[in-house]
Amino acid sequence: RIVHVNGRYLPEDQATVSIFDRGFLMADGVYEVVSVLDGRLLDFEGHMKRLSRSLDELGMTHPMTDEEWLEAHRRLIAENDITDGLVYLQVTRGNPGDRDFAYPPKDTPPTVVMFTQSKPGLAENPQADSGLRICTLPDLRWARRDIKTVQLLYPSMAKMEAKARGCDDAWMVEDGLVTEGTSNNAYIVKDGTIVTRQLSSDILHGITRASVLRLAQEAQLAVEERSFTVEEARAADEAFVTSASAFVMPVVAIDEATVGTGAPGPVARRLREIYLDEMRRTAI
Ligand code: PLP
Repeated sequence: RIVHVNGRYLPEDQATVSIFDRGFLMADGVYEVVSVLDGRLLDFEGHMKRLSRSLDELGMTHPMTDEEWLEAHRRLIAENDITDGLVYLQVTRGNPGDRDFAYPPKDTPPTVVMFTQSKPGLAENPQADSGLRICTLPDLRWARRDIKTVQLLYPSMAKMEAKARGCDDAWMVEDGLVTEGTSNNAYIVKDGTIVTRQLSSDILHGITRASVLRLAQEAQLAVEERSFTVEEARAADEAFVTSASAFVMPVVAIDEATVGTGAPGPVARRLREIYLDEMRRTAI
């Protein structure tokens, strides 16, 4: 695999960053994941807007313009011959040359790392037909989940705990209300209305969420942006999650409760189709 490190394209075993990098020592960095279908990027502009915002919220330097990011994504897709898969990018606050809680001087260059993951048949994931089994766990993350930081230890722990309990993934819960999945936004459907938590610093502002909600409204589906309880979710007609790499993925069980009929519901199936159609139409 050819990867990108600070403007250079190298075989992955020749790509290195410093042990003093702030990303490594402090999880002081942000990332994005953009999906690729048929060699083209999905929702690219949305991901670049969120990257800008994450960098601004942490007072980090923007290492590249949107045009340069696009060029870098396209080069990695071409070099690695990616048909379906994703491009991962990470920007950290660079290498101050030592460990220190205080940020390094403003002119310290950020560290940029990018790589591809090939996922043939990404849009034909069989999990979309079987649906996910979700376990609920307390949300023990920090309070700025709107910033897409590389600080992913708790979501990893939650995913492992969910798997240990026989689930595919976890939904995290705070004050009895579902915040989101470990790496996706969470939804329920009740009496035809799609319900998903309102945007705040409690959740990541999903790029897929934004597109799916817009497409749902265009398809005359009712949408309510509000918090919902675990009990409400267990009693819902349907549930699903969204993310850049899972698209729209149905949920069929929450803890010991079956959701709806126990099979992927019609709203989730339809939204997945509408979303994939739109992504294929607008990919760049
Ligand atoms: N919520 C969390 C915590 C995530 O990590 C992600 C994606 O990684 C999402 C939601 C979904 O965001 P997006 O649709 O932009 O991939």
